[in-house]
Amino acid sequence: MDRYKIKIKVKGIARWLVAMSTLCALLAWPVSIYAFPDTGHLVAGESALMADPVKEIQSPKAQHKKKLAVIIDDLGNKMEGTDEIMSMPVKLTVAVMPFLQTTQQDAKRAHEQGYDVLLHLPMEPKRGRPEWLGPGAILTKMSDEEVRKRVEAAIDNVPYAVGINNHMGSKVTADERIMSIVLDICKERGLFFVDSKTNYRSVLGKLCEQKGLPQVYNHIFLDDVASNDHISRQIGKVSEWLKSHENCVTIGHVGSRGKKTASVLRRSIHTLQQEADFVGVSDLAREQQKPDFIFP
Ligand SMILES: [Zn+2]
Repeated sequence: MDRYKIKIKVKGIARWLVAMSTLCALLAWPVSIYAFPDTGHLVAGESALMADPVKEIQSPKAQHKKKLAVIIDDLGNKMEGTDEIMSMPVKLTVAVMPFLQTTQQDAKRAHEQGYDVLLHLPMEPKRGRPEWLGPGAILTKMSDEEVRKRVEAAIDNVPYAVGINNHMGSKVTADERIMSIVLDICKERGLFFVDSKTNYRSVLGKLCEQKGLPQVYNHIFLDDVASNDHISRQIGKVSEWLKSHENCVTIGHVGSRGKKTASVLRRSIHTLQQEADFVGVSDLAREQQKPDFIFP
C-alpha cells in the first residue's frame, strides 16, 4: 500500500470513530440520568433554585414587604420575661428604662442580639403612682433647663439607644413646651421619638411634623390586659391591621405579664411572618428620613 492510500484509510477510520462516539454519546445521555441519579437531582435542585425568585415575584404573599416593629417596653430592672424576649428568633425593639440595675446590661444584650434599643423615658401621667415612673422622670412642673438636663442624662445612660419612647406620659406627651424640648434634643442627637400613644391628645405628631422628625407611633398594645387570650386577640388585630396598612408598630411589656407576652409572641411569629417582615422600629423611622434629619 502506498502512502496516499494509507492516508485515505486513516481519514476514513477517524471519521468513523467520530461518528460512532457521537452516536454513543447520544444513546448514553438518557441512560446517564438514570445511572447517576445524584446528577439528575443536582440538575433538578439547580433549576429549583433558579425558579425561586420567579415564584417570589409571582406570589402575592412574597411580593409585599410590609413591616412589623414589635417594641417591648420596661426593660432595665431585671424584669420577668427579659430572657424570653432576648432570645426571639426575629428582630425586635426593646425600650430600656434609665438609671436602673440592669439598664446597661439589658441595652448591651439587646444590641448584641441585633435588636434596636430605645430609651424608655419615664414621663408624668395624668393618673398613676409616682413610684411607677422610676428615676429621672420628666414632670410638667419642671423648668426648660431641668427637662433638658434630665433628657440628656437619660440618653447618656442607655447605651446603643437609636430613639426614645415614653414610659407612661399621658400628661407630658400633651404638653407642647416639654415635648418641644425633648424633640429638639432628639434632633441634635440624631434620635427619633416613638409615641406610645398613652394619650390621644398627644402633641407629638404635630411637633414632629413641624420639626421635620419622623412620625412613628404605636398602633396596638399587645398586653394591656394580662391574659393569654387577650394577647392572642391583640396579635390577631396586628395581622388584620397589616392586611390594609404597609406597616405596624405594636407594644408589649416585660414584667408581671412578660412571660405570657413572650410566649404568645413566639408562638405567633410564623403567622405574623405571613403578613410582614419583623423589623426594628428604626427601619420605619428611616423610611421617613428628611434631608435635614439624617440618622448618624
Ligand atoms: Zn413603660
